[in-house]
Amino acid sequence: MARVHLDDVTKRYEDIVAVDEMNLEIRDGEFVCLVGPSGCGKSTTMETIAGLTKPTEGTVTIGETDVTNLPPKDRGVSMVFQNIALFPHMNVYENISFGLRLRKFDTDEIDRRVEQASDVVQLEGMLDREPSELSGGQQQRVAIARAIVRKPDVFLMDEPLANLDAKLRVHMRTELQRLHKQLDTTIIYVTHDQAEAMTMSDRIAVINAGELQQIDPPLVCYNEPKNRFVAGFIGSPSMNFVEGNLTDDGLTTDHFDLEFDSDGLEPIDDDVTMGIRPEDISLEREADSATSTSETIEARTDVLEPMGDEIFIYLSLDGASSEMMTSNEASTASNQLLMSVDPDTEVGEDESVSVVLDRSKVHLFETASGEAITHGIADLSDATPTASVAPEAESGGQHE
Ligand code: ADP
Repeated sequence: MARVHLDDVTKRYEDIVAVDEMNLEIRDGEFVCLVGPSGCGKSTTMETIAGLTKPTEGTVTIGETDVTNLPPKDRGVSMVFQNIALFPHMNVYENISFGLRLRKFDTDEIDRRVEQASDVVQLEGMLDREPSELSGGQQQRVAIARAIVRKPDVFLMDEPLANLDAKLRVHMRTELQRLHKQLDTTIIYVTHDQAEAMTMSDRIAVINAGELQQIDPPLVCYNEPKNRFVAGFIGSPSMNFVEGNLTDDGLTTDHFDLEFDSDGLEPIDDDVTMGIRPEDISLEREADSATSTSETIEARTDVLEPMGDEIFIYLSLDGASSEMMTSNEASTASNQLLMSVDPDTEVGEDESVSVVLDRSKVHLFETASGEAITHGIADLSDATPTASVAPEAESGGQHE
């Protein structure tokens, strides 16, 4: 178990800046996921920790040791990658135990560790098989077991579950969490799957374009994203964003206004982006007393997606029926809102509805920089009476 510290780490490949002045402090025994879109620098960050690549600038410390110039084998780390590299001529037992045998571990200890590790990754009964007799998923489990048996100070995993089928992936997430508790090992885990990061990590490090955006516990990233990028990346379906303007009286947009006392908020009279998650929008008839003091927003239901445990409703704010969009597209178009409601809600397509936003869950971001201005406008003003705001872009009598 060891802390890992990246101090101003930059990695350049000619004119590409893969990692940009990264400062990252991962605590002893912590499970941290590095998340971000493809190409944002997650793997390069991991490789600088592993010693597979040397930073152009900055230092990497593991425990109390500056490992920036140490080879991987001297760093006390074990790695698991998405692409599996097993020895084809060795059976599962030999593959898992390879590192231990190289280090001349006692046979009983090797047996014990292999048994424990193969149990964790569900490979019991397969120890005699050769890699060619295993599925891709089983091969990946061998790679994970091989890393487990070494009991490293730091476990580095780069998309290790990406090739497993959905059911096994969910199972392995739980197993990795259990493993983390059992071994008390620092785990740094790379994934582009924010749901994987949300369920497993103590903290999530969100990276975009080589830069660390936020490192916080999953729910803090979810509820208090530091900027619009984090807000849009964490959570599925994504947060809705609507462009607007911040005034002394609140927020104005092309489609609705929200009244609140913006005293103390910046930038007044400038462009801001409002963010609201699908679950924080409700149909007015269902709104509870906490949200019923909010302004209602007139909208039209476009498409309904029953998911079983909830229904996604694509709302058109300007009344015009629009083409079906995916949830991510819908939540980035300013005249669209995606909301989720209980599965037994009676609502049809192409219906006029009034919706309210949970004011405590309304996020505002500075449009120019993307930086968060506030999370929640509920405490910023006295309760405002219900005030229906007619959208500007009417398309003829759809609004009730
Ligand atoms: P991620 O793991 O988030 O998908 P990477 O760390 O693999 O991202 O890549 C970050 C950026 O650095 C990308 O633009 C990628 O093309 C570039 N890159 C990564 N490795 C190399 C390399 N060996 N040579 C040149 N460019 C690289």
